[in-house]
Amino acid sequence: MQSMTPKEVSERSGLRVNPCKTCQPVGAMYAALGVHACMPHSHGSQGCCSYHRTYLTRHFKEPAIASSSSFTEGASVFGGGSNLKASVKNIFDIYNPDIIAVHTTCLSETIGDDLKSFILDTPIPDGKYVVHTNTPSYVGSHVTGYANMISGFIKYLSVKTGVSNGKVALIPGFINPGDMREIKKIAKLMNVPFTMLPDTSGVMDAPMTGTYNMYPKGGTTIPDIIGLGDCKKSIGFGEFATTLGLEDLRNKCKVPFVSLPLPIGIANTDAYVMALQEIGASEVPYELEEERGQLVDVILDAHPYFDNKTVAIYGDPDTVLGIAALVLEMGMHPKYLVTGTPGEAFVTRGKDLMAQYGVEDAVIKASADLFEMHQWIKNDKVDLMIGGTHGKTIARAEDIPLVRAGFPVLDRYVHSYIPIVGYRGALALVEKIANALMDRQDRDCADEDLEMVM
Ligand code: SF4
Repeated sequence: MQSMTPKEVSERSGLRVNPCKTCQPVGAMYAALGVHACMPHSHGSQGCCSYHRTYLTRHFKEPAIASSSSFTEGASVFGGGSNLKASVKNIFDIYNPDIIAVHTTCLSETIGDDLKSFILDTPIPDGKYVVHTNTPSYVGSHVTGYANMISGFIKYLSVKTGVSNGKVALIPGFINPGDMREIKKIAKLMNVPFTMLPDTSGVMDAPMTGTYNMYPKGGTTIPDIIGLGDCKKSIGFGEFATTLGLEDLRNKCKVPFVSLPLPIGIANTDAYVMALQEIGASEVPYELEEERGQLVDVILDAHPYFDNKTVAIYGDPDTVLGIAALVLEMGMHPKYLVTGTPGEAFVTRGKDLMAQYGVEDAVIKASADLFEMHQWIKNDKVDLMIGGTHGKTIARAEDIPLVRAGFPVLDRYVHSYIPIVGYRGALALVEKIANALMDRQDRDCADEDLEMVM
């Protein structure tokens, strides 16, 4: 079917075909799952909630728990206040979470439900919490929803006591649990105490124990979220997903922040390590120096296979910019950078990055869709595609190797455990890219050119 995509690109403003994003509550639900013993709650109809849970479950291959206000016609007309009140009682009675994180949906936003008033009017058991954020899906994307839910936790819970806890607050972008583990590993190696919010490691990559546990061991604890207000600094990874949380923490608790790119690639990981060094005043340990040196070594060794290869990168804005930085370091040529998330800062950052490496012909677009990217590829093909599963039909139609990275990856396994951030994560991504390009060379070369040693 995708081979029927026409080459002629026409201007579209009101239609997205094969969108490069999903809706805000998916991100809000993911952020809420990164809080320990939290029940994400979807204030809307059951259909929305089922879709969001399914989407996360398909990517992480783990059950994504969530409850719903279960709107029917009555709530849609008269408002969902009583539904929320009943939901909160039932959820605490039956599932006993420590906290319920409510997000809205298109329906509850359109009818104008006032969540703050509803929650104030709802009995909450002692020692339990209910927080909320607004996630109308006709603006933004799942990345916006993720940022909004982080903001909701901070606004409701974080408190400045005036006594520093000596920690740094780490706000990760929309990344896999394996990436969160890698960011924490680097902070530990740098000897910098931290709280990470959200932290889906140990939740969305929890081990099989033989017993179902609705609230696995992982996730940021409520005391730690409250304590974010006493951190001496915060670091956000990826401006699209974290700026809001960083600003909330500064505005509410006077915690200064550093906004960094997602630490994908050498320079971006260096920036994270340097930020930690400044905060902790500690030496960079040999283990990190070794990882960095190995990464540089591998990129140099395999350089002939990367040199000037053209690549289309699509997905979430922070992830696309991070991967673009890595492939530029590898000597590759990013030709198309696409995100479905709105925000012209994506284009500005992308152009700045390309200018550093003298790349002048990259097409960079936010609020875009994969149909349009396919049209660009039809007119001017690339050697490689990097992104999520929704690009696989294009890769097949145009016979282009695809390296799966970012969100969502619905048709492969293990990806959420293997980081793409940090020096070790970059090494894993470099291996995938090298293998994809070398497999293609093996497939396409003449019999007499098939090499044993490459
Ligand atoms: S109605 Fe809105 S919130 Fe529900 S699934 Fe659709 S886009 Fe998402």
